[in-house]
Amino acid sequence: MRKQIAAANWKMNLTIEQGAALLEGIIAKQQNLKEDQQAIFAVPAPYIQMAQHKIAGKESMFVAAQNCYSKKNGAYTGETSVEMLQSLGVKYVVLGHSERREYFQESNQLLAEKLNICLEYNIHPIFCCGEPLNIREANTQNEYVAKQLEESLFHLSAEQVQQVVIAYEPIWAIGTGKTATSEQAQEMHAFIREQLAVKYGSGVAANISILYGGSVKAANAAEIFSQPDVDGGLVGGASLVVDEFVAIIGALK
Ligand code: PGA
Repeated sequence: MRKQIAAANWKMNLTIEQGAALLEGIIAKQQNLKEDQQAIFAVPAPYIQMAQHKIAGKESMFVAAQNCYSKKNGAYTGETSVEMLQSLGVKYVVLGHSERREYFQESNQLLAEKLNICLEYNIHPIFCCGEPLNIREANTQNEYVAKQLEESLFHLSAEQVQQVVIAYEPIWAIGTGKTATSEQAQEMHAFIREQLAVKYGSGVAANISILYGGSVKAANAAEIFSQPDVDGGLVGGASLVVDEFVAIIGALK
């Protein structure tokens, strides 16, 4: 059975004290998660060890990095390698967030390389895809997302692709307060799963968690997560507030 996941994306926010207090607050209020549910915290790289320490012993909680580099090691000043993340015990890395694609020119091809190196080190990529507003307005979002999957993901083997979590994040809904309707989310998630089924077979497609991201909050999480092909969310703003994120975890199916 595929996992239901509430993933927090702190982005470039919080001091280490604020981050520690946020994690402590969430852990204190968090009910036990079901066997197929997970909470993942994508924290800034300098806070990974602090976060690992805070969630130690919590079987269903994981720390993620927000990015990694595509090369193994060497003279790449300022970058974080997958080997470094592995040595910290990190199990997940967010890849291809629209902010990375836009501000740091990350292409589908570069992301394919990053996916490869993560899988080589047994780290699960949380691969983000999703269309900008003009593409949605032109009603060509399916073609746009299919191309992202094709160019970054579909070179993987069936075994490898099942290690990947996909996050569909329509760019027009990120940090805008404008959420996709649960129907729009379901429609795209079903389309992504269908593309996976065509490429890898329906058994493989059924194993892959597809998260929705874009202005998820306590008030809309249950409605969005209730859709059959939505397996939880990747949450920015609302993941910075204890009660919001605890409620979002509680909204997982
Ligand atoms: P948001 O961000 O929840 O603040 O819209 C989501 C994301 O960018 O992952």
